Amino acid sequence: MECIFCAIVAGDMPAATIYEDANTMAFLDIAPLAKGHALVIPRTHALRLSDVSSATAGELMVAVQAVTKGLHAALGTTDATIAIHDGPAAGQDVPHLHAHIVPRTSGDGGAPIHALFSRQAATPDAIAALAVQVRTQLENP
Ligand SMILES: [Zn+2]
Repeated sequence: MECIFCAIVAGDMPAATIYEDANTMAFLDIAPLAKGHALVIPRTHALRLSDVSSATAGELMVAVQAVTKGLHAALGTTDATIAIHDGPAAGQDVPHLHAHIVPRTSGDGGAPIHALFSRQAATPDAIAALAVQVRTQLENP
């Protein structure tokens, strides 16, 4: 299956590119949720953030920061929703890791990420137990 973001990286598909460095690039979304909606990607193909090296993950976030600053300078905005849909179940539409930057303005009709979900019932004891479980995994990968 051809990956459209890999095709953009290869120059085989046009894109409104706004940022490029050695390992990342950014372009404007062709179906923007707001003016300036941009996507930042690693040049190498990977599905999820957990599939790239920590160096690549860091470079991606540095690029997200730079692109966000550039968008705000160009648009006169100060705020943005920055999101990664990390896998198909999370709503990822193109199977190549990408961070969305959606410039936001007061009263734009958008919502916070909390609007995507109903709050889960969870007791403080259940949250504490899960924290121990996850911390154990992180300390003993
Ligand atoms: Zn790809």
